[in-house]
Amino acid sequence: MEEATLDNPQTTAKPAPFGTVFADTMTVTRYVDGVWSEVESIPVAPLSIHPGAHVLHYASTCFEGLKAFRMPDGDVRIFRLDRHLARLQQSAGLVCLPAPPTDVVEQMVRQTVAESRNILPTPPGALYLRPTLIGTETNIGAAGAASTEAMFYVLASPVGDYFSGGGRPLSILIEDQQMRSAPGFGQAKTGGNYASALRHVIRGRNEQGVDQVLFCPNGDVQETGASNFFLVNDRQLLTKPLDSSFLHGVTRDSVVTLASHLGYEVIERDFTVDDIKDWIKTGEAMLSGTAAVLAGVGKFVHDGREYVVNDGKIGPNTQRLREALVGIQTGTDEDVFGWLS
Ligand code: PMP
Repeated sequence: MEEATLDNPQTTAKPAPFGTVFADTMTVTRYVDGVWSEVESIPVAPLSIHPGAHVLHYASTCFEGLKAFRMPDGDVRIFRLDRHLARLQQSAGLVCLPAPPTDVVEQMVRQTVAESRNILPTPPGALYLRPTLIGTETNIGAAGAASTEAMFYVLASPVGDYFSGGGRPLSILIEDQQMRSAPGFGQAKTGGNYASALRHVIRGRNEQGVDQVLFCPNGDVQETGASNFFLVNDRQLLTKPLDSSFLHGVTRDSVVTLASHLGYEVIERDFTVDDIKDWIKTGEAMLSGTAAVLAGVGKFVHDGREYVVNDGKIGPNTQRLREALVGIQTGTDEDVFGWLS
């Protein structure tokens, strides 16, 4: 059987799970005594970190997830880098960590991409980039203080589909009691938010056999454990307006822009679980994210009942928007919004 290798990450009978294969090198900088060190490229290998490091106790960490694509002419371009750079700064502020200046982060992302060019899969595969910031001060008495030291690195991972099975319709559990993250903290892309959502996502997967969980505390439809949420039909696109309860997805923003460009009426308003049930009598539902791209929902599960969407198939509007998005990302369509750099 053909093995997955870094040189040839796509050619395997059973692709490696998303995010488990890495480039050989990563860029890194360290914050000590109030300054960031010169950027270095180092082998991707276990880190030496003190067991009393701030991040290991008080979750002082945040990260980004973005993709670089190989264009038809062989060039490599990054999708909406500026948005991801801005969100990293915002997350760092929310978890009280110093972040390297935006131009340094940009340079590190570009250097990591350049060093990983040889392992960049052909589309629709991509190079997934994971800029990561951690508080490294050795101090277990600092529960109420920011880490005075930090480390920032940019990992690269060749990826294909996030949901195994690629374009298959997903099943989604509606969770109407629990929140994904603390109120007001959903905008931070930080490990703690994923940790607080995890047991609900795992319970959904193990006990109800679903792919993901949609968090709708008190009926307010927010986001899933790893993506934003949309309702769509032939005329309209509906999604929650930006507030501090959920992560402001770069893909969400792209889908809103594309849908409007394609003539859909874009409605950003709060909506409820009952609105979902009404909408899917005739319309479609979908999830957006850098990893998930734009994935169609085939079924919801709520209070032990199943609600099938579009006969359990990916709907035409989901398909159309997904193709428009992927077309720009992979350079087969014109980059009309200037999203690639
Ligand atoms: N919400 C959550 C909780 C996520 O983890 C993600 C993936 N980063 C998103 C939304 C979508 O964000 P983006 O489109 O920027 O990847």
